[in-house]
Amino acid sequence: MQELESFRKQISTPKKIVITTHHKPDADALGSSLGMANYLKKKGHEVTVITPSDYPSFIAWMKGNEEVLNFEDEKHKEDATKKIEHAEIIMCLDFSALSRTQDMEPLIRNSSAYKVNIDHHQDPEDFADFTYLSTAAAATCELVYDLIVKVGDKFLLDSDIAECLYSGIMTDTGGFRHPNTTKNVHLVTADLIDLGADNSKISRLIYDTNSVDKLKFLGFALSRRLVILPELQTAYFTISKKDLKKYNSQTGDTEGLVNYALSLDGIKIAALFTERKDAIKISFRSTEDVSVNKFAAKFFQGGGHKNASGGKSDLSLEETAEKFEKLIKENKKLLFNQLELVDEKS
Ligand code: 5GP
Ligand code: MN
Repeated sequence: MQELESFRKQISTPKKIVITTHHKPDADALGSSLGMANYLKKKGHEVTVITPSDYPSFIAWMKGNEEVLNFEDEKHKEDATKKIEHAEIIMCLDFSALSRTQDMEPLIRNSSAYKVNIDHHQDPEDFADFTYLSTAAAATCELVYDLIVKVGDKFLLDSDIAECLYSGIMTDTGGFRHPNTTKNVHLVTADLIDLGADNSKISRLIYDTNSVDKLKFLGFALSRRLVILPELQTAYFTISKKDLKKYNSQTGDTEGLVNYALSLDGIKIAALFTERKDAIKISFRSTEDVSVNKFAAKFFQGGGHKNASGGKSDLSLEETAEKFEKLIKENKKLLFNQLELVDEKS
C-alpha cells in the first residue's frame, strides 16, 4: 500500500519517463509498454518507449509505435541512451530480470531514476523502487489495467490504450485458451472491448497477416524439422541459421511454431531450438501438469512460466538437441513436479 502511494505520488506531477521491456518484445511486452505510455502521456508526462531490439511487424500498429526507439538500431542508440540518462522514472514491463534488456542493462542498473517493475514472471530480481508483480496474472497488460484502476485513473483509459492492453492479454493467453485464462481475464477484456478495443480487428492484425515466406517456412519446419519422441511425451524443432535464411525469416516468424509440437496428441513437452546470431535460443512449452520453467532455469540459463519458458544454449544446434533429449530422460521428476508432490504430502 505504501509502495502504491509512493508510485501515485511519483506520477502525480509531470516527469521524464522511459518505459522499457524485454529483448524481442512480444504483444504483451509492447502492448503493456505502449498502453502505459499512452496513459502517462495523457497525464502530462514526457514518455519514451525504448525496446532492447526490434519486434515483429504484426504488432507494429499500436498507438505510439512510430515513436518507439530500438536500442539495437544505430540511428536510435544515441537518443535512447540520452533519454535513459535523463529519465526521472524508468518503468520495466513484462520482465523481472534486468539481463533481459541485454545491452540496456548497465544503463538501467546505474540510473538513479525511480524504478518501477510491472510483471507476471516467476523469481523476480529485486531492483525496483515500486514493484507490481503477480504470477497469477495472465499478462503484464492485465496488471497495467489493474494498476491504472487502483491509482484511480480508470477514466483516462481510451480505445487506443484498450487496444494495446487487449493485444497482450489475447496473445499471452494463447487466444484465451491457456489455463491462465481466468475470470478476471474475461472481465478485463470485456471492459477493454467496452472502452473501444476492436477485438476482431486485433485478432486479424496479429494472427492473420502472415507472409507467404512465413507459411512456407511453417510447412518446411513441420515436415522436415520436427522430432517426435512419443516414449518421452516430447516433441521438438531444430531450426538452423540456414533454414531461416532460406525462407527469408523475419523477426516473429518463428513465434508460435513450438505450439504445433505441443498440439500433438500425447505430447506434454515441446521445445524449439533456433540458431541465432550468438547462441541457440530456446522456447519450451508444456501441458498443465509439467513445469518447464524450473527445467529451463536449471539447464538452459533461462526461466519463465510453468507452461511457457525459454532459455539459451552456447553449444551447437545438434549438441543442444542431444543435451535436451538426455536431460528429458533424466529429469522426469523435476518436470512432472514429483518432488513437490512428495513435499506437499509430508
Ligand atoms: P518464448 O518462448 O515465447 O520466447 O518465451 C516464453 C516465455 O519464456 C517468456 O514469456 C518468458 O517468460 C520466458 N523466457 C524466454 N526466454 C527467456 C530467457 O532467456 N530467460 C528467462 N528467464 N525467461 C525467458
Ligand atoms: Mn507477458
